[in-house]
Amino acid sequence: MTGIAGKVVAITGASSGIGEATAMYLAERGARLVLGARRKERLQAVAERITAAGGTATAAVVDVTRRADLRTLTGTALDLHGRLDVLVSNAGTMAVSPFDELRQDDWDAMVATHVTGLLNGIGAALPVFRRQRAGQFVNVASTAAYVIKPPQGVYAATKTAVKVLTEALRQEAGPHLRVTLVSPGFTDTEGVGKGGSPQVAAALARRSEEIAMPPSAVAAAIGFAIEQPDGIDVGEVVIRSTAQD
Ligand code: NDP
Repeated sequence: MTGIAGKVVAITGASSGIGEATAMYLAERGARLVLGARRKERLQAVAERITAAGGTATAAVVDVTRRADLRTLTGTALDLHGRLDVLVSNAGTMAVSPFDELRQDDWDAMVATHVTGLLNGIGAALPVFRRQRAGQFVNVASTAAYVIKPPQGVYAATKTAVKVLTEALRQEAGPHLRVTLVSPGFTDTEGVGKGGSPQVAAALARRSEEIAMPPSAVAAAIGFAIEQPDGIDVGEVVIRSTAQD
């Protein structure tokens, strides 16, 4: 199926930021959406906005660190629409801090959300895509997977893992599957400056105010990868504002 209209797309981390913007972008172009995140009310508000505008969206409470929740997400797509065309693995947390602060719960959360969460998505969607002999993974990493700056070590490591896993999956995907990595730079979302070391978070938020791009720019990059004709795989998109070094 070429284009966006009619495709069944599941998005993790759809309750805010890049995930929400991607949901709006794809819904406006006729995708049928299944939206996953933990905050039920925020998620439902996004789904309701889409349906009120004539689109198709269903909210499913999902914690990507739980394997069963990803199966619920893909299962909801299959139950409602009979298929799943794209899984956008976008859920993430930028709890950045210097190692010396020993914020080990934050380290664990980033590993669980970015690495285990991505693997849980692959585990849930790959069998579906194989059965259909069609499907696309879109995995959201970060420019932090390319340029490591202190004190972003754990965040950068987990996003580097997303990059490596995506490329490995692409190489094993075969002719029927598409696998795309989207790596945004600073993006104006509530996720920047939330969590991690308060001083670092404040500095990131200030930097973001100066140089961030809108989440709609990342949504359009994800849309570009999805709308390609069958057989064309956008492997990697790195997108940042011109103000970012
Ligand atoms: P937001 O905080 O706005 O969005 C993060 C989303 O992930 C929310 O919907 C949140 O929903 C969800 N989420 C977090 N943890 C979990 C979990 N365990 N299970 C399910 N959903 C979860 O930030 P962004 O939109 O900026 O972040 C989206 C992605 O983009 C992340 O992967 C981030 O690392 C990446 N990114 C962001 C950049 C930026 O500058 N903003 C730059 C580069 C990459 P809920 O809390 O409801 O579960």
